[in-house]
Amino acid sequence: MNKRLRVFATCDIGESIELLRKRGYEVEVYPDPKAPQKSLILEKVRSGVDGLITTLRDQIDAEVFESGKGTLKVVAQIAVGFDNINRADANRYKIPFTHTADVLTEATAEFAFFMLGSLARKLWTAEHLTRENKWGYWHPYLPFLGDEVTGKTIAIIGTGRIGLAMIKKCAGFDMNILCYDPAYQNHEYVNAIQATMDLRHARGIQKEKTWIKYVSFEEAVREADFVSVHVPLVREGESATPTYHLFNERTLGMMKPTSFLVNTSRGPVVDENALAKALKQEWIAGAALDVYETEPLPADSPLRDPAIEDRCRLFPHFASAGKITRLSTDPNKGMAGRCVQGLIDVLEGNYGGDVKKMPYVVNKEAF
Ligand code: NAD
Repeated sequence: MNKRLRVFATCDIGESIELLRKRGYEVEVYPDPKAPQKSLILEKVRSGVDGLITTLRDQIDAEVFESGKGTLKVVAQIAVGFDNINRADANRYKIPFTHTADVLTEATAEFAFFMLGSLARKLWTAEHLTRENKWGYWHPYLPFLGDEVTGKTIAIIGTGRIGLAMIKKCAGFDMNILCYDPAYQNHEYVNAIQATMDLRHARGIQKEKTWIKYVSFEEAVREADFVSVHVPLVREGESATPTYHLFNERTLGMMKPTSFLVNTSRGPVVDENALAKALKQEWIAGAALDVYETEPLPADSPLRDPAIEDRCRLFPHFASAGKITRLSTDPNKGMAGRCVQGLIDVLEGNYGGDVKKMPYVVNKEAF
């Protein structure tokens, strides 16, 4: 009888775990909602598991791959971002790792748009006013007004999967769109959006003509009313266009004083000290963040300063946190389903065992 395939999951990913068990896998799930210590991951890998299910909270590097030498066959990450996995190390040990791109694209983009709306129209401050019984009157402009989104200009930094989905949603709100991406420019998509904008205007669906175009980073950041970030976290030396601290004192200083920053990408893409300074000194009008340099956001973070509370919206890495997106067992709908399918593809040798043909494997260059 064949040996049962063994998997260790660093967190519970719901019903999809049962799918593995039904296929005869022996699956151990780390039961605590907090991330396990790295030493525990090393211990499990050393014990000879065939597959490891990871989240963005786990540091997966040479130490892990060395511990699994000869036994570990795949790392299946439940996320699209994989900056926690050392790709060069995975390649050196020839361990394929998978991710869950696409299935979280629309959920992440819609959340980015809702963050933008909440920030611009001051939804949090307005609800507090009501709940705290401070709503004393209806008045044309007191106690404050928000900024409309409709008709404004947004810069999309990174026009990959989520950036393009965000463009689609912004176009529906009659926004003008500045696009920036140094590596991937989807002109066909941008032309189709322009054609849709033109049709909506011609048919009287939107009053004003709107436009979309690719521009330089500096033009995008200088001209926009909103800047929404959709890049991967890439550090110096990992790419010709690293994104670590892409938003810093210099680049935040380029933004209009009336503009807003939205970040759903990865925390270290924004220098948080610089952002806190920019908000405090009103270089920009506001920021909404879903991701942080350290997660969970530390109690002493400068972003928690009450002086900027009215213009700084903070969310708990929540952009993909929709029920279907996170947990559907269908690999075409849910991150959990896609994560498990990626693992199965490698362990069961689907696609004729050719890793290069497996759709969810990231580091195909190693094979
Ligand atoms: P993607 O790879 O499809 O798109 C990323 C784009 O960024 C690519 O087109 C790339 O060329 C571009 N890019 C790279 N360097 C750049 C730079 N210096 N400036 C501008 N653009 C640059 O990835 P995706 O599926 O769109 O996901 C983007 C990122 O969003 C992920 O890597 C992940 O970190 C993050 N994310 C966060 C959440 C969340 O819950 N907050 C959810 C999903 C994804």
